[in-house]
Amino acid sequence: MRLILMLLLLAFTAAAQANWHSKTWDAMGTRLSLTFWLEDEAAAARALAEVMAEMERIDQQFSPYIDTSELSRVNRQAVHATAEKPLAISPELSRLIDKSLYYSGLTQGAFDITFASLARYYDYRNKLSPSEAQREALLPAINYRLIHLDKNRHTVWFAHPQLYIDLGGIAKGYAVDQGVAILHRYGITHASFSAGGDSRVVGDKRGRPWLVGIKNPRADAVAISLPLENVAVSTSGDYERYFIADTGERVHHIINPGTGKPSKGINSVTIIGPVGFDTDPLSTSVFVMGPERGLALINQLPGFDAVIITSQGKVLYSQGLTDPR
Ligand code: ADP
Ligand code: MG
Repeated sequence: MRLILMLLLLAFTAAAQANWHSKTWDAMGTRLSLTFWLEDEAAAARALAEVMAEMERIDQQFSPYIDTSELSRVNRQAVHATAEKPLAISPELSRLIDKSLYYSGLTQGAFDITFASLARYYDYRNKLSPSEAQREALLPAINYRLIHLDKNRHTVWFAHPQLYIDLGGIAKGYAVDQGVAILHRYGITHASFSAGGDSRVVGDKRGRPWLVGIKNPRADAVAISLPLENVAVSTSGDYERYFIADTGERVHHIINPGTGKPSKGINSVTIIGPVGFDTDPLSTSVFVMGPERGLALINQLPGFDAVIITSQGKVLYSQGLTDPR
């Protein structure tokens, strides 16, 4: 009797596992990881293939490292465009730039996709920073107000000859949302999808919440595990892409647009909210704004929460995570 029960239980677990689908792969210069529940095996294979193709499409269109991407073309051509003769862009790029400009306004320029006008000369692999001369010459080209976007006509022109944009602070959150939209179309109601530090959890893990980890910024370990359902979670960290300069300074990839240098004071910021298109730019924003201004911003945005690990190793939480409701 006992044996039969155990066998039955085993059979059930095997069947249950067969309906979970998991895949980890590299794309968009990062590690992607997708897990979802779907009973129809053939549909699951199609859903996975569609998500993978969508990530590839987004990379081919918006990567600054691919010469033929729309973003690269815009960086080459928008500096020659004018108010009279603006450059036509895709509605999708128009939306990404529009959202970026919205967050520039909301954060008093902490989030600014023109950071790359100078920051494109950081070479993390070869441990090189832009020279002082470059910094002086290109700092004026870091200013989101120099991007002239017509979001209805889908045109743009750059009012500085050296202006250069990079969507690295927003594109992964957007990509994760696009992936989840595909999962929704397949009727998937339990899923977890992450691209580097940006993730979305859909529903729960069939009876338990998903656990989303916040890394210890200075060790290969999870510092905090958040049990979550139906949210987007984005983490920005100074440990994702960096080198240690001869001076001992950590030269990382989140740039203060005011100085053109890596932002100080925070080691990691995690933002929880409805979708990656907002949590991704907000994590970068709060990182640059610092603990005080950053928390004040998140506390006034309904539906968003933050966990900040400061450079002193202190963990700070937004009101939504601490105050009784
Ligand atoms: P991660 O890549 O660690 O997930 P983020 O979402 O914070 O973290 O993205 C960091 C990327 O954002 C950088 O690699 C760069 O492409 C871009 N970025 C850096 N500084 C800024 C800034 N001040 N405003 C907008 N984007 C930025
Ligand atoms: Mg971000």
